Amino acid sequence: MSIQVEIVTRDRALFGGEADIVLLPGVDGQMGVMEGHEPLLSTLDIGEIVLRNGDQTEYIAVSGGVVEVRPDKVTVLAEAAEHADEIDIARAEQARERARQLLASSPPAERRIEMVEALRKSTWRIRVAHRKRPPGSSPGLGQSSNSN
Ligand code: ATP
Repeated sequence: MSIQVEIVTRDRALFGGEADIVLLPGVDGQMGVMEGHEPLLSTLDIGEIVLRNGDQTEYIAVSGGVVEVRPDKVTVLAEAAEHADEIDIARAEQARERARQLLASSPPAERRIEMVEALRKSTWRIRVAHRKRPPGSSPGLGQSSNSN
């Protein structure tokens, strides 16, 4: 039993294939989707998408977007998304540091919201980048963190 998955951004198709289960960061909490799921349309938060297929697990950092679930297919239109092994960790660390410093300088409210978002995105990118495991190991879903 598997479900079709398509993950795209405005610029590119990131993933097209099947998964036994897909975990997504819904704005109301983590969603787990398998074949036969009831149809829904939801907004995605910043976080990670986990694709589990047999003993293979793939991690994708996602910076918001929308997901449409049908019983046979999950379609994600992401604002930005990267496979774990595409993430430039140094860039994400710089973005995190920049956001931390700006937040520490008591910015106006709108800037503050922007910086909190930048902090969350960069923190998730770093986390997802570190999820890469050597070939042959299967980290399993239990290790997917749900913290923000
Ligand atoms: P930065 O401040 O480092 O530019 P950002 O959070 O402003 O990061 P986004 O606007 O979310 O970046 O994304 C712009 C593009 O850059 C997207 O295509 C996104 O996938 C890509 N991107 C952002 N950060 C990284 C990263 N650390 N590694 C790889 N790609 C990244």
